[in-house]
Amino acid sequence: MRKIYADLHIHIGRTSAGQPVKITAARDLTFENIAKECALRKGIELAGIVDCGSPAVMQDIDALIETGEMVELPTGGLRYRDATTILLGCELETVEEDGSASHHVSYFPAREQLKVFIGFLRRLVTNLDLSSQRCRLPARQLLRMARSAGGVFVPAHAFTPHRSPYGNCVRRLHDMFGEAGLAQLAAVELGLSADSYLADRIAELAPLTLLSNSDAHSLPKIAREYNVLWLDQVSFQEVLFALRRERGRKVLANYGLDPRLGKYHRTFCPECETIAPTEPPVLSCPLCAAPNIVKGVLDRIAEIADYPEPRPPSHRPPYHYQVPLQFLPGIGAVTLGKLLNRFGTEMHVLHQATPDELQFVIGQKLAQLVIQARQGSLPLLAGGGGRYGRAVADDSETQLTMGW
Ligand SMILES: [Zn+2]
Ligand SMILES: [Zn+2]
Repeated sequence: MRKIYADLHIHIGRTSAGQPVKITAARDLTFENIAKECALRKGIELAGIVDCGSPAVMQDIDALIETGEMVELPTGGLRYRDATTILLGCELETVEEDGSASHHVSYFPAREQLKVFIGFLRRLVTNLDLSSQRCRLPARQLLRMARSAGGVFVPAHAFTPHRSPYGNCVRRLHDMFGEAGLAQLAAVELGLSADSYLADRIAELAPLTLLSNSDAHSLPKIAREYNVLWLDQVSFQEVLFALRRERGRKVLANYGLDPRLGKYHRTFCPECETIAPTEPPVLSCPLCAAPNIVKGVLDRIAEIADYPEPRPPSHRPPYHYQVPLQFLPGIGAVTLGKLLNRFGTEMHVLHQATPDELQFVIGQKLAQLVIQARQGSLPLLAGGGGRYGRAVADDSETQLTMGW
C-alpha cells in the first residue's frame, strides 16, 4: 500500500478539436493536457475529470484508447501512459421540487457504464456537450440513476452559496436524499470555502468520507485542493474501498486552502461591498440591511450546525491547510520551472523537499515561503461574495492575491 495524491474534480475547457465544453474554463484544458499536467508537473496520480458525460469529450477518450495512449483498467479507471489514472466523472445540476439547484458528480468505472448513464440523460439535459448542465431531476433521483448505471455519487462543493445542497437547498442532506439515499452517497465534497472542521459541526456527516478537490477550470488550478489516499493500486475499485474505508484503504489526509481564502467564506453585501467582519452567523447586512446578501459558507454552517464546535468521528483524517506554489509572491513561471526541474513535481516540492534542498534551488527567502505555504502558516485575510481571501507574505509588501 502507498500514498496516492488525488484530485477528483477537474473540468474540461475544450475538446481536442477546439469545441467548447466549459465556456468559462481555459482553452488548453483538454482531456489529454489534464492527464499530462497531472503526470508531469503536479504529481497527481489520480484525476477525476467531471465532464466525461459530454459526447464530444467521449470521442477524445475513445481516440486515446484507440492509439493505446490510454487503457481501461479491469478494476475500473483509465490509465494514461502508465502515469496517471483517470476516473470518468460527470457533474450535473439537479433541481429540487422548490426550484433550488445543486451540483453532484457521478463517477463510473468504465466507458460502458458512463454510456448507459448518458443514455438516461438524453431526454433530461438540453445540451449534453456542455459541462455541469441542468438535468430536470431532483438530486435523489439522479443518485438512483447513477447507481443503476453502475456509478457512484458525490454531492459537489457541498457548502457553496450557489448551487450546492447545504448552501442553497436544504439544512440536511437527509432532507434531500432520505435515509436510504444518504447511506448510498460515496462521499461528500467540501469545496473551497469549507474544511472538515466546519463539516464536522453537522452530525449527519459523521459516517461519510469527505473529499477536498480543486474544481479546476484551468491547468494551474489542478491540485489547489487534493486528497492523499492510501491504496494498494490506483483504480476505480480501490478508490471505492478508500471512500468506504474498507480493506485498509482510506483517505489519509485532505489538503486545501484555509477556508478563509475561499471566495465565499464570509457573508458579503453587494450593496455596501463589505465582507462581514463580526461573529458568524451574519445573515443580513449590518450596515444597510439589504436583503440580497451572499451568505458566507462559515455563516451558513454556523446557521445550520448541530454543534458549536467540530465533533470529528474517529475515522476522520486531518485536514491540512496549504497554499499552492504558483500563488506565492515571488514564485513565477521561472522559479516554478527550477523547482520542477530539481524535484520533479509540485507534490514532491510540497511534501518531500527539505528546507536545505529548497534553499539550494531558490534561495533562503523563497524557500521559507514554500515552507510556510506547506505548513499553512501564512497570514490571511478572509474572502467573501466572490472575492478570494489573501495570504500576506511576512517579510514583503507584496500581497498574495488569490484571484485565480
Ligand atoms: Zn459545480
Ligand atoms: Zn465543477
